[in-house]
Amino acid sequence: MSPVIHNTLAQREGRNMVYVPFQVENGCVETAIKGAYALNILGLNVTVPYKGEAADCLTEKDEMAGKIGAVNTLVRTDQGYKGYNTDMLGLFRAMQSENIRLQGEEILVLGAGGAARAVAYMCVLKGCAKVYLFNRTLRKAETVAQEVNKAFAAACVTPMSLADYPLLGNGRKYLAIQATSVGLYPNTEDAVIMDTAFYRMIHTGYDLIYNPQNTKFMSLVREAGGKAYHGLKMLLYQGIIAYELWNNVKVSEAEALHVYEKMKKAMGIAHE
Ligand code: NAP
Repeated sequence: MSPVIHNTLAQREGRNMVYVPFQVENGCVETAIKGAYALNILGLNVTVPYKGEAADCLTEKDEMAGKIGAVNTLVRTDQGYKGYNTDMLGLFRAMQSENIRLQGEEILVLGAGGAARAVAYMCVLKGCAKVYLFNRTLRKAETVAQEVNKAFAAACVTPMSLADYPLLGNGRKYLAIQATSVGLYPNTEDAVIMDTAFYRMIHTGYDLIYNPQNTKFMSLVREAGGKAYHGLKMLLYQGIIAYELWNNVKVSEAEALHVYEKMKKAMGIAHE
């Protein structure tokens, strides 16, 4: 989808710029980044599994990327590439565009992998009241909670086992962010928690997965009366923010939504 995002914007702005995918083999990340710099390339995106490794090949790092420990966007400077993490700001902007607020919210984050870690960090950064971090492997949730709490010098994130959600059963409704890989195509009938009691606790569910565009998690949220969203807008806005960094411009909401329509068309999503 990234070529669709950047090439659409460049074409509409009349910019002499092209975005192309490169496959980089294991062990070649540093060489690839140095080579791109030597070739005068304006910027790069880095995706799984190289978001951590790329962070070690930069001359400078944005503060948020440093704390999250992962970069997905490299911006050319006179000295080398500067690394940013636009994934999380992309998620934030996607949520803003759907009028989902984080400030003051108690948030359930499902997962403790790379994405969940960054989501937990972003939720605290944007002023949420509390994050309950649920993961199959409790130890991983504990590590992430410890790291984020240390970064903010506050006990904002509580690690939980997947089975522990009844402990929160105080009648309160939560925003839930689904950041595990469970439910990804082709395992579209899976959700990390299947129990309907869990979904009755949720007023809004945001799944980072965008393939399929209607995940089992989203269906369960809706069946329990909540609103549900998929992760395609997060992908859109992480790209828009990268484009803005590379070109030193601001992309309007109308332009972003035009690109979003192109993405949906490319993915064969007609109506939502
Ligand atoms: P990751 O580091 O591999 O983490 C995977 C997470 O899923 C872990 O918490 C893992 O739990 C959990 N998990 C996997 N299989 C499970 C199972 N059978 N039962 C219970 N839990 C299970 O992956 P990631 O990079 O964080 O990505 C997570 C998801 O976010 C992916 O689906 C990815 O596509 C999506 N994502 C979307 C965007 C976007 O732009 N929309 C951006 C980034 C990521 P354990 O720790 O117990 O193994």
